[in-house]
This record gives sequence, structure tokens and C-alpha cells, in this order.
Amino acid sequence: EPRHILVTGGAGYIGSHMTLALLDAGERPVVIDDLSTGFRSAVPDGVPFFEGNSGDPALLGAVFDRYPIEAIIHFAASIVVPDSVSQPLDYYANNTVNARALIECAVRRGVPHVVFSSTAAVYGEPATVPVDEDQPTAPINPYGRSKLMVEWMLQDTAQAYPFSYAALRYFNVCGADPHGRTGQSTRNATHLIKVAVQAATSQRDGMDVFGTDYPTRDGTCIRDYVHVSDLAQAHLDALRHLRAGRPSIICNVGDARGHSVREVIDVVKRVSGVDFEVRLRERRPGDPASLVASNARARQMLGWTPRYGDLDTIVRHALAWEQTLLQRRQNG
Ligand code: UDP
Repeated sequence: EPRHILVTGGAGYIGSHMTLALLDAGERPVVIDDLSTGFRSAVPDGVPFFEGNSGDPALLGAVFDRYPIEAIIHFAASIVVPDSVSQPLDYYANNTVNARALIECAVRRGVPHVVFSSTAAVYGEPATVPVDEDQPTAPINPYGRSKLMVEWMLQDTAQAYPFSYAALRYFNVCGADPHGRTGQSTRNATHLIKVAVQAATSQRDGMDVFGTDYPTRDGTCIRDYVHVSDLAQAHLDALRHLRAGRPSIICNVGDARGHSVREVIDVVKRVSGVDFEVRLRERRPGDPASLVASNARARQMLGWTPRYGDLDTIVRHALAWEQTLLQRRQNG
């Protein structure tokens, strides 16, 4: 039987874009998702779907019995930095402990490759930006630590077994499928661009800016915003790299340009044509002042070329998906 790719968290925001990218590339995705934040409707018809925890050995056994899995792309995780500060043990359970079980099943079943969703949060407050992969990891919140421990497990596993991995350190993932097929559907999302487009479409009453006294050009935090479809492409590129027998790799996936919170909000206002209320608030716990990627390694080693890095394009796609969600809700 032809080889399949297991996508954990495939019903979620990034995972649903990945599943589409795999189908577009002629691959065969299989999805596991516990639907805690994902949506069954985000998994395309015809894609095998298993509901449950990606760290459950019984569920993984059932998947591996049914489908020959060539690689696992592991998205299923909790991703909200302030939540990780208030509920650290939940983050270690869901992000670290579950990944350990998944890696063990992969090794036992002879799955040769894992592509792992890591995060720029492993750098903490980097000494210099743009940050490259050789800079020391020093996460400043439990979210970043919960992911960094998985990178270490993968590194040690690749030393001990015939197994290779790519750990992709995502910067701020945003936007939506350029063809309008999927997007970020989480209603109580906390991420900046999602919150701003919700404000622009009157789904929330304005928005807050968390911290205006950072040592940055306008006092608000600087982040690197990468389009979710470019991110999915980086996973396809990583898969090609591992299949070619090349060594395990850790790669930033970012656009390599930094935008402040105020700049992002201005773009959302301009592109949407809506001037929503913006309230200046205290800093949020766990936020570094500035995080911008060097993406030279992903470009050179994976052959990755981002196509939708422009913030206007990202915001246009995010707004279009927000309109789709609104229409769907109106139609019941
Ligand atoms: N942010 C904000 N208002 C919001 C959401 C986020 O000011 O409603 C800020 C947040 O404090 C951070 C930046 O936007 O400086 C990006 O935060 P986000 O939660 O989108 O991603 P993170 O970088 O924490 O993964």
C-alpha cells in the first residue's frame, strides 16, 4: 500500500492548511485530532480521520495497523503563552509528555521521519535579532520550555535509532489559505492578527495592546509574521529533505521582517477600512520585546521560498476567512 503521512492536530489551524498542502502535492495525509480546539469540518472529505489524543499509544497503534506511515507531522499542542504561565503542568502534559509517547510509537513502529512544530519561543529574549538557529536557547515561558524539551528528545532519539527529524521553529503564524478553503476558526483566539480582524469585523468590541513601554521603535512588541501557507510549504520542503536521506535539521520558519503591534493594527485598519477601538494596556506575562527570524537556513537547506510574506496579503487572507466564518454562522 502507498505510504501515508500522519498529521497530528490536522483539524486545527495550521494542521488543516498542512493537510490541504499535502493533498495539493499528491500526498496521502491521515489526521489525528482530539478536537479540543480543532474542527472536524476542517478535515477534507476522503482524508482518514481519527479522533483522540496524539500521545495515546492505543490510538496510534490503531492508525499504524491500518495505514503504512512514512512520516509524522506533529502539530497537536497548546500554544497560548499566557495560558502556559498560569497552567504550566497542562502545557508540559500536552506538549511534552504526549510528544514523548508519539516519538516512542514512531520508533517502535519504524516510522523513519518526524517533522515537529517547534517555536521561536525557545529563544526567549534573544541577544540579537534577527535570531539564527545557532543562538542559544533560553525560553522565558513554560510554552517555550515545553517545546524545547521535545527538540531535545528528538535529537537524542535520532542519535540512538535509525530516525531523522526536522524541528521547525515557527515565528508568528497568521493568514489563511489563499484559495479560501480553510483558516483560523478558533473563536476565542488570542493571537494578534486574528484578534484584530475580529475587531475589524465587529465580532469583538475593539482590542487591547499589551504593553507600550518595550524597548522597541514604538514601545510595542516586535514579531515576525509568517503566512500559514508558506509555513505549510516549509513542512513539505522539510519532508523532501528527510526523504532524501539528509540529516536531521532545526530551522527557523519566519518571514525575516519585524512588525510592531501598532504597525500590525494599522495594516488591519487600512486593509479592512474599519477604525476599531484600541486600548493601551499593561504588559502581558511571558512576552519578549522583539523576535525576528533569520530564515537563511530554511532557504538554503530546505529550499524554502516564502510567497505571501507581505503583511497586507496576510491580513487580506485573514479578513477573507473571517467573512467566510461570519457567512457560515449566519447560514446556521
Ligand atoms: N498582542 C496584543 N493584543 C492582543 C493579542 C496580542 O497586544 O490582543 C500582542 C502580544 O502581547 C505580543 C504580540 O501581540 O506582543 C503577539 O502576540 P501573539 O499572542 O499573537 O503571539 P505570541 O508572540 O505570543 O506567540
